[in-house]
Amino acid sequence: MASPGIVRLMADLWKDEVDGIHPIVDIDTGEVTYPEANARLDERDDSAFEVLETLAEQNRLHREFQEKQYICPQCTAKGMQYTSACPSCGSPETTRTERYRHTACGHEGLHDQFVDDEEVVCQECEISLNSLEQLESDTAHVCNNCDVIFQTPDHRLRCRDCHLVTHPMQSTERILYQYYLTPQGEEWIEEQLTARQAVAETLQNRTLQTDIDTTVTNGSDNDIPVHISAYDELLNDHIIAAVHEQPDESAITNLLRTAADVDAQAILATTSGTVVGEDVDQLVTNDRLTILQVTAGGTLNHDYEVVADPTTHNSFVGRIASIFEPQNG
Ligand SMILES: [Zn+2]
Ligand SMILES: [Zn+2]
Ligand SMILES: [Zn+2]
Repeated sequence: MASPGIVRLMADLWKDEVDGIHPIVDIDTGEVTYPEANARLDERDDSAFEVLETLAEQNRLHREFQEKQYICPQCTAKGMQYTSACPSCGSPETTRTERYRHTACGHEGLHDQFVDDEEVVCQECEISLNSLEQLESDTAHVCNNCDVIFQTPDHRLRCRDCHLVTHPMQSTERILYQYYLTPQGEEWIEEQLTARQAVAETLQNRTLQTDIDTTVTNGSDNDIPVHISAYDELLNDHIIAAVHEQPDESAITNLLRTAADVDAQAILATTSGTVVGEDVDQLVTNDRLTILQVTAGGTLNHDYEVVADPTTHNSFVGRIASIFEPQNG
């Protein structure tokens, strides 16, 4: 399932500590960030975008359209800007203006061709007019690059970085979403938090100093986020525990690596009662590791099964739990 950072993120959504995750677009650079997610994820988690998209794929978050972003086909900078452009020379250096027409003589021109020293005069028939309102007018665009006057500009996108001006079809579209918890997501996070609490209480009941969602410090002074860290000062016993819905090879490898790094025993708790992977036999029999199932009622036991493929629920390779003697308690 999920790293401590992802659990933190989901838990805060569930507890309404945060009302959805919103993308913020930097106006100058076009860079997109998700501050509410970044504040909760750990450095070693994937990028906020990857985490949110994965949770959306798992139906734990749903996405709501916020805006569309265009990515430069030349330099891949994000957030191209809309610009109108001259249909004749392609330059974005065009200005919107009014075009006037004197209906009596048919003379056409821009503002300056009718207004002279604040007097309104038709240059063709030299008739003085009370105001510009006596003229027909419509919107026109003037190209400052090639001087062409035109009715409808082309729609173009301009890169803030490399200044490429391109047709919108040539750029890559990216939709920015806001993310909210789904009912499945609520159910999932509640189950994970309940399971984590059950594991923590079990350790606490054995008088270990237990911390939830904390870090452990390894030999090279790095703080590694863990779901649970439990410590017996007298006996100098240290246990770290991870809770997953369906722990897989990478979850077990990560847990064992951290355990070895801080010289601790490891508890891997599975809330589904399964461990997923084709080649996890070596890992699950590691001396450092105890795998426990956490039931919906919050009790812990040694019954779990290894399944090769989580999508085909019945194709488990073997029930490994039976080869272990249950430990006391
Ligand atoms: Zn032009
Ligand atoms: Zn005229
Ligand atoms: Zn560019």
